[in-house]
Amino acid sequence: MVPLPHICVLGGGPAGLAVGWSARRRGLPFTLFEASDRVGGNCATFASGEFRYDSGAHRLHDRDSEVTAEIKRLLGDDLRRIDVPSQIWDEGRLIRFPLSSAELLAHLGPARFGRAALEVARARLGGGGPPQTFEAFALRRYGRTIAERFLLDYSTKLWGAPAGELSPQVAGQRLSGLDLRTFISESIVGRSKHHVEGVFYYPRLGIGQISERLADECGRDAIHIGAPVTRLFHDERAIHAVEIAGRERRDADVVVSSLPLNRTLAMLDPPPPPEVQRLSSAIRYRQVRLAVLFIDRPSLTQAATVYFPHRRFPFTRISEPRNRSPEMAPAGKTSLLAEIPCHEDDELWRADDETVIDVVRAQVVAIGWVRPEEILGGAAHRLTNAYPVLDARCASAVEGISRYLAGFANLRMVGRSGRFVYGWVHDMIRMGVDTVAEIAEPRRDG
Ligand SMILES: Cc1cc2nc3c(=O)[nH]c(=O)nc-3n(C[C@H](O)[C@H](O)[C@H](O)COP(=O)(O)OP(=O)(O)OC[C@H]3O[C@@H](n4cnc5c(N)ncnc54)[C@H](O)[C@@H]3O)c2cc1C
Repeated sequence: MVPLPHICVLGGGPAGLAVGWSARRRGLPFTLFEASDRVGGNCATFASGEFRYDSGAHRLHDRDSEVTAEIKRLLGDDLRRIDVPSQIWDEGRLIRFPLSSAELLAHLGPARFGRAALEVARARLGGGGPPQTFEAFALRRYGRTIAERFLLDYSTKLWGAPAGELSPQVAGQRLSGLDLRTFISESIVGRSKHHVEGVFYYPRLGIGQISERLADECGRDAIHIGAPVTRLFHDERAIHAVEIAGRERRDADVVVSSLPLNRTLAMLDPPPPPEVQRLSSAIRYRQVRLAVLFIDRPSLTQAATVYFPHRRFPFTRISEPRNRSPEMAPAGKTSLLAEIPCHEDDELWRADDETVIDVVRAQVVAIGWVRPEEILGGAAHRLTNAYPVLDARCASAVEGISRYLAGFANLRMVGRSGRFVYGWVHDMIRMGVDTVAEIAEPRRDG
């Protein structure tokens, strides 16, 4: 009998965990190596006393019915359907997101709303080829008034690059409800049914519960935490072993890496040709500094997430975890979770936790959300490789590196950083499941 291939899974975020979970269901042996001391990657829930908060405001989107059904099966009653819309903070007011015609009209006033509508009509009539940058996409689709107010500065803050250098792909799915055509038609016929942005799934104990359940299903024995992968040994055609923590060497039949594309490349031993190595300089990831404040008040906002598009705020969004699940804060108290996107040389990325907490504390007091004496304490974290920076330079580099790595017959790349895509948790689980299916198929065919 042909022995089953042993899979080395690199990284224990949702993508790596989905590979392990799926391998286990198919009876394929695997070992998962995770550098940090916990599973979940950027899909985790932290705890401080009785407060719980996620690695950034997370929601499980119901966009892949098979994945949703599997997660429902794994979490049972702990997975709840939530209907809490988000909001945008603009000029001291909170407006509903996705924007609705009535609110936008009230917020901008008839003159500015009318101008915005005209801008869109003009931009659409202008024609031209597909927009090459996010700025061109935003101006064409929403017009200058809306784009400048809500989108361009926000995107620059989030991705750390001018909107004119970003790919239109950074629009992601977040903007799907933000369409002036919708505003205009809604202002005539009323709010449409497709405004379902506020509906999502969320686990009772935080988004990390999904990662933890996947890890349970993998079998904890197969997961090695505190096990950073440091080298990938190869013979030009296949990876034959991985090195853990610079010492231990493990033979591999198949390697599935969810590590960043440039890190996977840099770990190859012998190193790739210089022309491939050079491509790495165009691959950048955005980091996120998280700050949470614990508040002595039962509730503060009614939103899943509040977006702060303006430059004067260092954070892009603030969420209130208990609006996703009441179990995220003790009775009578709440918390606020701020996300500050950074590059590694930014002051706030390098700053100590207290400094970051103080920056957020000062801002939420200044906008009148809380009084200083209500803040019971805080915590801060660093999220690495939070977003692949999809700028004008990256596309050909991603393609070149991916093509080179695809030359190794037994190496598969998965995950947000591994595939360099702006994907969501359900996409990561889909990638893991599909990748294991591809690995398993030849065995079934043979
Ligand atoms: C702020 C924020 C908000 C988000 N909100 C949502 C949301 O609302 N809904 C949604 O669906 N998705 C959301 N996402 C996206 C989601 O979190 C990611 O798509 C997902 O975490 C990516 O999973 P992954 O396994 O590809 O990578 P990661 O989660 O980044 O996991 C990679 C893992 O690899 C490990 N690793 C790195 N180097 C090594 C090494 N050398 N050896 C071994 N292990 C290593 C890391 O420690 C990490 O655990 C959000 C992400 C962020 C950052």
